Amino acid sequence: MNRHERDDAYLFHTYKRLPLDIERGEGLYLYSAGGNRYLDMFSGLAVNALGYNHPRVVRAICRQAERYTHLSNYFVQEPQLQLAELLVKHSGFDRVFFANSGTEAVEGAIKLSRKWGATQKKTVLHSFTNAFHGRTMGALSLMDRPKYREGFGPFLGNVTVSEYNNADALRSAVGKHTAGVVLEFIQGEGGIRPVTPAFADALRKLKGKFGFLIIADEIQSGVGRTGKFFAFQHFDAAPDIVVLAKPIGGGLPLGAILSSTTIAALLEPGTHGTTFGGNPVACAAGTAVINEIMEQQLMRNAAAMGGLMKERLLALQKLFPKLITEVRGFGLMLGLQLTVDGEPAVAAMRERGILINCTDQTVLRFLPPLIVQTEHVNETCDQLKEVLTEMSQF
Ligand code: PLP
Repeated sequence: MNRHERDDAYLFHTYKRLPLDIERGEGLYLYSAGGNRYLDMFSGLAVNALGYNHPRVVRAICRQAERYTHLSNYFVQEPQLQLAELLVKHSGFDRVFFANSGTEAVEGAIKLSRKWGATQKKTVLHSFTNAFHGRTMGALSLMDRPKYREGFGPFLGNVTVSEYNNADALRSAVGKHTAGVVLEFIQGEGGIRPVTPAFADALRKLKGKFGFLIIADEIQSGVGRTGKFFAFQHFDAAPDIVVLAKPIGGGLPLGAILSSTTIAALLEPGTHGTTFGGNPVACAAGTAVINEIMEQQLMRNAAAMGGLMKERLLALQKLFPKLITEVRGFGLMLGLQLTVDGEPAVAAMRERGILINCTDQTVLRFLPPLIVQTEHVNETCDQLKEVLTEMSQF
């Protein structure tokens, strides 16, 4: 049996696999068993901020693996401390809790918000249409799309959902019982949809009025991808809790919750925890990632390359107005809204050696690593132009 047949035979069929057989990765490229090279412009869905096999990350992983790969959380662990110090330094938050994944960080943030709410007699969590917060039951409870939820209920109670970017709907939905509002300031899976400044403004004012927490899901957008450390920094926003994952483990599983000291103090010893959260090898890799981002000014690169790419995508919109209706996003988190299914375009790009992604059926999503350079942006946009030309002929 070949790999795909074995995958079919032995694994749950929960993923739509790509028809590729990858042997190794290096920098921005993946190499297939057949010897083909692919430019990866979605970087492991925003995980591989430094591309594949970055020497600094590989070195950090090997060094830590030689010391120990796991200590229980009964022990203070130097790799956790180093990454926590970095996250605190660059985020402006006081405290970090390490989880294993994005969805687990979201679960922790839900528990933390519930605990805080109990101290304030506030019982409701609020979220938005089209959001994506993960696959566990708490995260699913914050989401509205049947695609992810169907058949898995009942979900958590005391959760309300209103239309994303609709300030009036938000005003009608939140009140003195709202403990927390959870949102992606740029929805990722939902189709690269940033909040509008007016919506961010309404949210801030409502927080002032009712005193709820704002929980920012920066799992896809965080750690420099949008040209700023957090996506919410593009708006007039000051969340109380932030959840992170994807790039912070350098390709190893790691999530994090950030908050103030006061909020963090609500989770007393024994009330929350995890066996693997804060794994030392993942933390060592994450420390290497964040140090590299800062030292090499990769946030600046994300802003510059993202700016260039957005310009080129906007030019494509002008060329193909019947196929493209909008270009959205900040930095290296960009989406091209098509009028047709995006999968054929993704497949055609793959045939041309470039990996992009389609989300929300009609949105081409670009999440290149933060080390992307002008030539990669140009190559992607040149090839996309060819693909769109072919598509527009049908
Ligand atoms: N939140 C957002 C915004 C995400 O993009 C994702 C994953 O794509 C998650 C949460 C869930 O993260 P994980 O897949 O690590 O559980």
